[in-house]
Amino acid sequence: MAIAERKRDKKLEKIAALRRSYIEQLPGKLALLKEQWQDCLSGLSVDKTAEAFRGLKNRVHQLAGSGGTFGYAALSDEARALESVLATLDDVRQFTTTDRQIISALLENIATVVDSGLPDSSELATEFVLPLRVPPPGQTVYIVEDDLALGAEIEEHLLRYGYDVTVFNDANSAEQALSEYCPAAMIVDLNLPEGELAGTRLAKAYHSTLQDKKPLIFISARDDWTARLAAARAGGQVYLTKPLDFSELLDSLDTVGLWWDDLPYRVVIMDDEVLLAQNYAVILQAVGMEVVLVEDASSLINLVSEFQPDLILMDVNMPECSGLEAAAVIRQKVEWISIPIVFLSTENSISRQMEALQLGGDDFLKKPISAQHLSAVVTMRIRRFRKLRSRMQLDTLSGLLNHVTLKTRLQTELGRSLRQDTNLTFAMIDLDNFKTINDRFGHLAGDEVIKNVSRLLSQRLRKSDIVGRYGGEEFAVILPDTSIAAARELMEALREQFSLINHRCKSGQFACTFSVGLADLSSCKSGNALVDAADTALYRAKDRGRNCVETSHCGSE
Ligand code: GH3
Ligand code: MG
Ligand code: MG
Repeated sequence: MAIAERKRDKKLEKIAALRRSYIEQLPGKLALLKEQWQDCLSGLSVDKTAEAFRGLKNRVHQLAGSGGTFGYAALSDEARALESVLATLDDVRQFTTTDRQIISALLENIATVVDSGLPDSSELATEFVLPLRVPPPGQTVYIVEDDLALGAEIEEHLLRYGYDVTVFNDANSAEQALSEYCPAAMIVDLNLPEGELAGTRLAKAYHSTLQDKKPLIFISARDDWTARLAAARAGGQVYLTKPLDFSELLDSLDTVGLWWDDLPYRVVIMDDEVLLAQNYAVILQAVGMEVVLVEDASSLINLVSEFQPDLILMDVNMPECSGLEAAAVIRQKVEWISIPIVFLSTENSISRQMEALQLGGDDFLKKPISAQHLSAVVTMRIRRFRKLRSRMQLDTLSGLLNHVTLKTRLQTELGRSLRQDTNLTFAMIDLDNFKTINDRFGHLAGDEVIKNVSRLLSQRLRKSDIVGRYGGEEFAVILPDTSIAAARELMEALREQFSLINHRCKSGQFACTFSVGLADLSSCKSGNALVDAADTALYRAKDRGRNCVETSHCGSE
């Protein structure tokens, strides 16, 4: 795991650097605190005094939240002590002498902590233990099969659908490879040269490198309880018996999640304390997430619609607007009603927490929070959100986006392209003579073809491309930042590739083709215009004799 460790060291260095700049800024922060406290006492105008007191409260609050996060627990403790006293006071002019003395004394305590120097850096090592990250989540699948012919056949099937594949013929060589790299999924024969059930041994090496269970499929000639139990105990989610049904194998890879959950988790962080926000970002990036920081509350809406986060991490106390208010604005949009919002705050009063939850927050985390806790909560929330969303947005047979969701995404992508002045191509795909295929080979065989097209499209297109099932045997693809010429080339390749697939079913083997209609933004400026133009082009392709790609431009039709 040399690469993962190096990466992790880099993250630790980055965190240490953030921490150094935080500590460098502390004396300045302390001076400001003292200054504001002097302003409170100096008998300025009522407004000015009140402003200074609000400022003081905010700064102390920030200090309480950030100290611990940067491994400076003593600082957090002192700041929190002062914060709890300040929270009981409202009007500076009504402070008693005792109030003033207490506040001054508590401020001095903070100063003492800052002056007495930094906590030992050896204490920090334990503060910032980052979870080990698996190497980049590629689509590499390990196959461990001692039957050379079968191994090669599985490899061929998977390659065709765009997976990267490495085949091993015994447990030892696979074990060796697992210590270097962790694949996205494993298909393992239970019975290997090393012995009956030797395949289960590999599961240990595979799972021990991970926090989460990864897709593990066992294949075996045995169909008895002992073998199945051994496979289940080793963490195998799927058990397939030989002779292998390849279509079932591919389906299994989909269901164990290899197909859908490969996009990195996306998180938006909104916290007025930039260093803290950066710190959270580093922690989440270290476990492979994509993170964007919001610097200005008014840009939140645009950012959410462009970046499409899976979760928003939000500070409660911010100067421009509170996190609760920002959450309420997010929830005003129906399509964002289910994005998880996790509040991060030093706030510990129950009523504020309840308010946060009522306004649509999903979780309330107390600052300071450890790296592990933060990444665990965020990961769990996102996983749940993605499952729920896929159930609502995906077509059940193909696993692609359903019609409604595809149209919504088209609107979003179109808006983005127009704003950024980039092109976008929309493709409409329709299976040729599909009725005949159903008639000759049965509806079930037809369903398999639909699944095969879906798989091919999702595996072979870029991650930024959006694929949906438009209706029955019609599919649609949104290709952002793609010219119609480039899209044409791509679709020609896919068309050709699909036509070469040999579909098998009980009543025989057959080939199937599809036709494609393309339209781009150069002459269609609305979603409906794009769809209509692509549809018209598709019909031209059918007229031309099917199994071909036709392009169209609005206006020229
Ligand atoms: P063309 O090349 O002109 O597109 O001919 P076609 O036969 O593909 O077109 P037509 O629209 O006449 O028929 C589409 C067929 O697709 C009819 C319908 O039963 C079948 N179909 C639609 N959805 C499904 C599905 O989910 N599963 C199966 N097996 N068939 C489906
Ligand atoms: Mg058709
Ligand atoms: Mg049709």
